[in-house]
Amino acid sequence: MSTLVDNFGRQINYVRLAVTDRCNLRCQYCMPANGIEIVPRKELLTYKEMYRIIRVLTELGVQKVRLTGGEPFVRKDFMSFLEMLSYNDLLHDINITTNGALIKKHINTLEKLPKVKNINLSIDSLQADKFAKITRRDVFNEVMDTFYALEKSSLQLKLNVVIQSGINTDEITDFVALTKHKNIAVRFIEEMPFNGNGLRATNENWSFQKILTTIKNDYEIQEITPEKSSTSRNYKINGHIGSVGIIPAFTRTICNDCNRIRITSTGTLKNCLFDDGVFNLRDFIRKGASNNDLKNLFLQLVKQKPENGFVAEANRKQHVSESMSTIGG
Ligand code: SAM
Ligand code: SF4
Repeated sequence: MSTLVDNFGRQINYVRLAVTDRCNLRCQYCMPANGIEIVPRKELLTYKEMYRIIRVLTELGVQKVRLTGGEPFVRKDFMSFLEMLSYNDLLHDINITTNGALIKKHINTLEKLPKVKNINLSIDSLQADKFAKITRRDVFNEVMDTFYALEKSSLQLKLNVVIQSGINTDEITDFVALTKHKNIAVRFIEEMPFNGNGLRATNENWSFQKILTTIKNDYEIQEITPEKSSTSRNYKINGHIGSVGIIPAFTRTICNDCNRIRITSTGTLKNCLFDDGVFNLRDFIRKGASNNDLKNLFLQLVKQKPENGFVAEANRKQHVSESMSTIGG
């Protein structure tokens, strides 16, 4: 079987797929207050097209998919798509990243889908007023209810916390404290400039190192040997059942063994979060490409994967300013 290997010998076995560019929240670091210009519905990949793209990728060795957005649960019939995707016998893991505001009623069904093992829930503040300020929406109670329900469920739970200078940096310790009695992984993410031109001015750069130093001020931590291609460096704290991680998303020290590609909701393949899109798969499919055509295309496209996120950014035609909601994070 041909598999996806880039010019640096990196094996691609993971795809992140944004199932929509729509979202019910307006997080300050992700988009401007009035949202982003969403694309007409017909420009979004259909579920059938997504299924087909993932099927072809799994025939090339991809085993894991993360469904993201926008907010995946905003897209109509998303739960049916999950069931449909579960029929792909070559796929091992279907993970989901969500803001949690719409999913509580689906948790029982999610637990029954054997390939859905892990949910990443984004929560940037444990304080209702601050949460509302960050997300520009009043959904704190719904999201916290989802958090507690997921924690009790059989699904593995990771919390994504984007560290925002002067906004939630005072809560790092509170988030770490959650791991004492909860078997969850709290992961702090460096903020990136993918804010749809929300033009955010930050006072300080909260890099991986600064976040780590802040945690170390309050806790004695031991680094855990990372899983291959993990995006986070992870730590255990004595007496805590959960773990803590930091994702150097902006300082990009994790590119060496990158194993992923991304597909946006309009079908653009991205070899790197920081590139500006390599090829539109939707148009290729709608012009009648066969699965074999798609396979050959993927095998060629991954050869263009840049060595790291800095090279990808340097090769862009325009500066980074698009919303993460269009890329999928
Ligand atoms: N709506 C879902 C959510 O918020 O979890 C999924 C899509 S969201 C784009 C995926 C992840 O990207 C979230 O954890 C979000 O916090 C993160 N994210 C969005 N904009 C970001 C930025 N500018 N810098 C760092 N992380 C960002
Ligand atoms: Fe929506 Fe997620 Fe972006 Fe927040 S981070 S606006 S929840 S897509």
